[in-house]
Amino acid sequence: MQSSGKRVAVYPGSFDPVTCGHLDIIRRSAKQFDHLIVAVLNNSSKNPLFSVEERKQLLAEVTRDLPNVSIDSFRDLLVRFMRSRNAQVIVRGIRSVTDFEYELQLASTNQKLDSEIETIFMMTDPKYSYLSSSIVKEIAQFQGNVKDLVPPEIEQALANKYI
Ligand code: ADP
Repeated sequence: MQSSGKRVAVYPGSFDPVTCGHLDIIRRSAKQFDHLIVAVLNNSSKNPLFSVEERKQLLAEVTRDLPNVSIDSFRDLLVRFMRSRNAQVIVRGIRSVTDFEYELQLASTNQKLDSEIETIFMMTDPKYSYLSSSIVKEIAQFQGNVKDLVPPEIEQALANKYI
């Protein structure tokens, strides 16, 4: 399907904001591919705390030590975005059985839309199995401590939002 022979993967998500759980998946999957694109979903129907540009900027900051990781965004069908970037693999993280049900539906849909694109799953590091962007926002909103849940750059960005 692609000419360069490079193994390119896309890790799509909302990343509103990126958490330590996401970052763990990014670090681990970056080792498995020549290039990993972390792609922020530009979904106008959700009401995000951080704009797409802010989320991309924050992702770029926390992945700056990973040379084969780049940050992008998309609002098109994921499989079409993948084609435009010569990517063959979708990476998703799984925390629980609940994630699995939803992820299976998503992966099956993408498989139906483009059978050449494969979805692979990475199990969460157990210490992040309860962690989500929503939980982080709930805690930060009430000035709770999110130190071990997000990278320092995100902790600061959350503090600025909820001043
Ligand atoms: P979405 O809105 O698409 O679910 P998220 O930003 O919430 O986007 O998550 C993107 C991906 O990262 C999903 O596959 C999700 O299951 C995974 N993920 C989220 N939090 C964690 C975590 N703590 N550990 C592992 N994977 C996670």
